[in-house]
Amino acid sequence: MPPPRHGFLGGWPFVDPPPRQEIIAIGARSRVSRRMSRKSLLLLLCALVVSLPAARRCHAAGPARLVVKNAYLFTMAPDQKKPFTGYLVVDGQGKLAQVGAGNPPADLKAEQTWDAHGDWIVPGFLSAHSHLWQAAFRGISPDQTLTGWIDGLYYGHARYAQPQDYYWFTLYGALDHLRHGITGAYDFAYGGTSWGLCKANDCDQAEFKAETDSGIRFVHGYQPDTISATDTPAMAMARLTSFMQWVSAQPRDSRFLSVMLNGTTAFNNTYQQAVSEKQQMDRFHIGNQTHYLEPLSTAGEEQSKFRWMMDSGLLGPTLYFGHFIHTNDFILEQTARAHAGMSWNPLSNGRLASGVADIPKYLKMGIRVGMGVDGEASADLADPFENMRTGLYAIRDLYQNADIMSPYEVLYLQTMGSADVMGVKDTLGSLEPGKFADFIAIDPQCYGTVFNPYASLVFVTQTSDIDRVYVGGELKVEHGTVLHQDMTRILDEVEQRSKAAAPQGQQAPAPVAR
Ligand SMILES: [Zn+2]
Repeated sequence: MPPPRHGFLGGWPFVDPPPRQEIIAIGARSRVSRRMSRKSLLLLLCALVVSLPAARRCHAAGPARLVVKNAYLFTMAPDQKKPFTGYLVVDGQGKLAQVGAGNPPADLKAEQTWDAHGDWIVPGFLSAHSHLWQAAFRGISPDQTLTGWIDGLYYGHARYAQPQDYYWFTLYGALDHLRHGITGAYDFAYGGTSWGLCKANDCDQAEFKAETDSGIRFVHGYQPDTISATDTPAMAMARLTSFMQWVSAQPRDSRFLSVMLNGTTAFNNTYQQAVSEKQQMDRFHIGNQTHYLEPLSTAGEEQSKFRWMMDSGLLGPTLYFGHFIHTNDFILEQTARAHAGMSWNPLSNGRLASGVADIPKYLKMGIRVGMGVDGEASADLADPFENMRTGLYAIRDLYQNADIMSPYEVLYLQTMGSADVMGVKDTLGSLEPGKFADFIAIDPQCYGTVFNPYASLVFVTQTSDIDRVYVGGELKVEHGTVLHQDMTRILDEVEQRSKAAAPQGQQAPAPVAR
């Protein structure tokens, strides 16, 4: 049976929805519903009242796990723009207990001490928009814009992959993110399509396990049902409920941040899509990232769906848009008013010739902005430095003004901005007591004479200059080597499975009955 030419696969738009016989579900654990513990509240209050460069400290949970000294710290804390030489103390829970200038207290005891010898330390980067499984398909459809690229990736490969393939693809993508200094990501999982080989929640579960096994901090993006005459909101809710129950039965892991919906309202032909997604968000207190206004070719049709997002109540602080390039003033005004956000994905936007989002205008209007490296099939390196530079230079080209956006501002968006839209700015995005100790250490040798630290950091750094990557105070990557993982096997699995996930003369897989 030939593939459907239209419909939605993995969150991507096609012209007609494929017939759906069964339910697709969505799932997640609520970040909204998780109540802040008293200890977390105290740590947060502590973080607010202490000031740098005098040591910021909060009571550590047990003995210190790690002390890092002689570091040149870019904390990205709102009141600490000037970098300084100092130290970090990580508690037994993997959170920052102290961030201070100078040397650590002489009487401080820790399980490990690392002398950074002047390495530059910045918060781990956050990708607010990634498709981790796509790492298995780098370089695909090199001369295509979005529609042709989707044909090549989704119809040429993704629909032939088995659930277990998605485990290996996702594990590889997550480790590739980590290796490049990205310690947290929103992962658009490949799940809810009847035109692939994912039964029920099989692919989502495989991808969730891979996210967990990788050691990255993650939001699991869950593909909701595409509502149609044969796939009702009740069916969508049932599948989501099933996934949520499965997630809640998994071992607790602080690196799991939340589940959010990979929203598809812009690509469905019924208002019920928006209503259904809002119901699912309310039921489980979860957020939503919706691909929206990426290519110019479908902008008019997608813009016409904006009213659905407003009327359904989807548009609000827990919604953010992915790409969000071809907007108009009404959409921007309403998005700002609703405190919704967006993920800016310049590497992918450049690769697919999608256009340049007018970020200075969005920020001026009060829209919350994070940054994502997108999947490695459309932004072939998960490199936050390339992403920042590509974005910054595109904006400067757009305005023909080198003062329109600074290195500091783009660095802020790739750290704190992403933490904000991902709903985790209280725990990630900056190096402050009470937050998770996710950070990277960079060898400053490449900089030569430093005239402006943020300019050196953003303009000059290559990921090969990264000495170390820590998540929760645990060393995950050292000099480009991913630790505690069998990379030889992972690469072998991915190579074999990505080659096998192709037509190769075989019949196109039949729709999965759910
Ligand atoms: Zn995407």
